[in-house]
Amino acid sequence: MGEELRRVLSEKKEALESRYGIHIYIGYDELGDFLGGRRSLNPQIYKRCYEFWTYLIMLESMEELIRPGESYFYERPRWRRDRQRIYSTFRGKSIWCEPNMPGYDPALILSQYDLSNEIISLLEITQPTIHCIPDFIVFNEERRELYPFTNLTRMFVYYCPKCGGEVSGWNERCPSCGYSMLERMRESWGSQLRRFPERRNIEWLVECKEKGITREDLSQFIWYILAYKVPSALIFQGSLDSLDQRDILENLEETLRTGVRREELENLGEEFRTRIKVLDNFRIGDNDTCLHKIREELTIDSDCTNSNFVKVKKVRR
Ligand SMILES: [Zn+2]
Repeated sequence: MGEELRRVLSEKKEALESRYGIHIYIGYDELGDFLGGRRSLNPQIYKRCYEFWTYLIMLESMEELIRPGESYFYERPRWRRDRQRIYSTFRGKSIWCEPNMPGYDPALILSQYDLSNEIISLLEITQPTIHCIPDFIVFNEERRELYPFTNLTRMFVYYCPKCGGEVSGWNERCPSCGYSMLERMRESWGSQLRRFPERRNIEWLVECKEKGITREDLSQFIWYILAYKVPSALIFQGSLDSLDQRDILENLEETLRTGVRREELENLGEEFRTRIKVLDNFRIGDNDTCLHKIREELTIDSDCTNSNFVKVKKVRR
């Protein structure tokens, strides 16, 4: 399995490099070592392989926007780890691999929606882990800088205005005196958002899974959608038919859209403009199917944003 995987990924990478005259840089040493035959396959590397495959297909789907001579980064190289510069730029687009997004407060996010018990119990599975590093972000602009959010922004500590005690981001009320902290959290979250205006230009948040979708995966994906409110895609290698969570995934967009508390979002100057796509049977090596799915599915209607993920549907041979 390792040999075949190595061959498929290496050939795909080299084919794209020679076809478009670009260099694809693999920032993950372990993945590079695996492809170079210096390391054998393990579950962590397999996960990287799957993400890399998805990246290569997304890159190819934007072939008309590729700049010959450019380096395309799948994760940032070690010598550029000081800042959030882990992009691949196209004409009018950019792909960011594992960007640190601003942290958020789960209690505050939940206060913006009326959700069924089923969804809430899903969300609780992965609390208090905050999900703020998606696999990919696609911008509808050539962004070469991203606000350098660090892991620190994931940690929220507030001080109670009444008793001065510390309140962690997980508590709606001060544990010492019971004072409601929602207002304070709202201000803080608002300022986080103001430091990330680029979020408005996110075309897709992409999360991919090398297997089927577990309840934990689904929980993570829903957190991304609820918090960032940007078009989001879940890409995975298994089949939607075989999932226990199939009903939830199929109706997710409608469920969340109807669950939004509009006034809450308006108070924050926010809107829920999320499109949700689920791309299953997206298998490593299945080039034509994967490319077709990306081209067909990750295209946004003009009423959502004025950009298209893919402008050209021509298939090159
Ligand atoms: Zn207090």
